Amino acid sequence: MAKLYLVPTPIGNLEDITFRALRILREATLIAAEDTRQTVKLLQHYEIKVPMTSLHAHNEHTKAAFLVEQVIAEDKILAVVSDAGMPGISDPGYMVVQAALAAGLEFEVLPGPAAFLPALVGSGLPCDKFVFEGFLPQKKGRQTRLRFLQDETRTVIFYESPHRILKTLAEFVTYYGPERKVVVARELTKIHEEFVRGTLQEVIRHFENGTVKGEMVIILAGKE
Ligand code: SAM
Repeated sequence: MAKLYLVPTPIGNLEDITFRALRILREATLIAAEDTRQTVKLLQHYEIKVPMTSLHAHNEHTKAAFLVEQVIAEDKILAVVSDAGMPGISDPGYMVVQAALAAGLEFEVLPGPAAFLPALVGSGLPCDKFVFEGFLPQKKGRQTRLRFLQDETRTVIFYESPHRILKTLAEFVTYYGPERKVVVARELTKIHEEFVRGTLQEVIRHFENGTVKGEMVIILAGKE
């Protein structure tokens, strides 16, 4: 029977994949991947041979509905994966869920890795209530967003790239003050995993002392 699965994949350590995720990937008739060159590494590691197609930020808008129609017409099992983590979380996935809902295609989202959860829990900052902001807008709307968060009392989570981290932390100082607590979780699940904890000025100092590399999540304490 036609069905769609959203399958989370490891954010670094290839062991971080569930038995069910592997079974669904094996049983799928088609895997839609954000970048097939990235996903092929995972599939080869687990000796999974399933045809792949691409579904990325630039074609998701039109291709999601087409794929869903194809799945229904040809009674396929489609597994959607992104390069890492949970599809739909700062990654393609939202449009395919919309398309499935519109077409009445049954779908399931498998639980699994997403970078923000180990970052939040490992940060040591309150994780009972939090806000996920994902990537800040790079230009238009960025200052509005930063200002909007000034009165946020819950812990705030951002995704950021290494080459923008210092700029972003400096902007945080402007909006939230140098003494606000922050944690940068870097290279989670990988060999060089690191949590940098401190006030904004302390964490800035840490990163100013060397080249900043790797994937990172910023966990910002809420306003006290
Ligand atoms: N779908 C993914 C998820 O569920 O977390 C997020 C994909 S988003 C395009 C990529 C961003 O996630 C990176 O820029 C970084 O902020 C964060 N990220 C992904 N893997 C990470 C890791 N191993 N360590 C720290 N941050 C990571």
